[in-house]
This record gives sequence, C-alpha cells and structure tokens, in this order.
Amino acid sequence: MTQKDDYLKLLQRARSLGATPQQSQGRFVVPQIEGFIEGNNTVISNFADILKKVRREPDVVLPWMLRELGRPGDMEGGRLILRGAVPKATLEKVLNDFVSTQVLCSECSAPDTHIEKQGRAHILRCEACGAHRPIEAASRVATPSTQRAAVQEGDTLQVTIDDVGKRGDGVARYEGFLIFVEGGMKGQTIRVKIDRVNGNMAFAHVVPG
Ligand SMILES: [Zn+2]
Repeated sequence: MTQKDDYLKLLQRARSLGATPQQSQGRFVVPQIEGFIEGNNTVISNFADILKKVRREPDVVLPWMLRELGRPGDMEGGRLILRGAVPKATLEKVLNDFVSTQVLCSECSAPDTHIEKQGRAHILRCEACGAHRPIEAASRVATPSTQRAAVQEGDTLQVTIDDVGKRGDGVARYEGFLIFVEGGMKGQTIRVKIDRVNGNMAFAHVVPG
C-alpha cells in the first residue's frame, strides 16, 4: 500500500461523505497527465487520480480513451498502459475532449455532474444547476483490443482519411487501428491495401476503386 493509495482512499471516503474535491466556483481544471514511454508502451501513471478528479469510473473513461486514441490499452494498478508511443499532447487532447463532453455541465460549466441511464439513453445531469443533456455512451463502445485482427497484411479496405501524420501520410482509423496511407489526403474516402501491420498501426497504399 503506497501513500498514493492511502490518499485515494481518503479522497474516496471524503466523497462518500458528501465532500467535493473540486471547487464549484471558477473554471474546472482538467487534471494534468503524468506519463512516460516504457518500451513499446505509454504509461499514464496517475490515471486513477484522473478518474477521481473527473468523478468517472474506469469503464466509462477507458473505452472512450482507447477509441479516441485508436489503440489497445489496459488499467494496471491505477496506471493506464497504452500500446505504442503516444505524444502527451494527444493524451491531453483526448482527456480534454472527454471532460468537455462527458463531465462538464454545458450550462454552468460545473464539473459536479453524474451520468444517469434512462432506458438506452445516457443523460449528463448537473448537480450544481440541474441542467441535463443527452451524451454519447462511451461505455457501450467496443474497445480496440477485442478487434485486433480486423486489419491484416494484404487486406484491401475502404477507409476515410481524417488526419495527416508527421511525415505527410494520411491517417485513417479503422476498428481500433491507425492506418497510415502513403499519399492519402485528409477528407478522402479511399480503398487501400495494407502493406505492413505493427501492433495496432498499419501502413498502406491507395489502390484503384
Ligand atoms: Zn450546471
């Protein structure tokens, strides 16, 4: 048992007693990500702490992050281990998106919200002002790790390029894979042939049709 675990326990108890660790006044500050690259993985070492701060369970946050990042990953002892090297800026963007769509009240910007299930709909309800809005249910989204075989060398796939990589390749997301397409341009929906697969990244070229 580390000091950090003790701290988290305390925090949890404080919350169950009705205390709120965030101030309702002022802007909610998205938690800082503490992370590092370890071998072929990216480790977010304070993931449990982030979960506490955004007041969401792992089964809501984890599938969201994996889908947005397009890569497999898992929680291990309060840390989030992601396959591959993920730039910190990317992690921060995904966490920011999560907070703005799944945590903050769109009326008063308070972080004091919770998710209610109404039939198949998920409602984000604000405890500060009572406002509510429907949200996308992140927990229903399949995680990439269950679909890892969806892209294999030699496959021909139709993909949509939604980003451009550092070296100018088009980047498409497909069933949890990131596909780098030589010569692919942002916005294109094209057929590609997979040349090489590395973890959940694949490299492809455009084919006619
Ligand atoms: Zn509100």
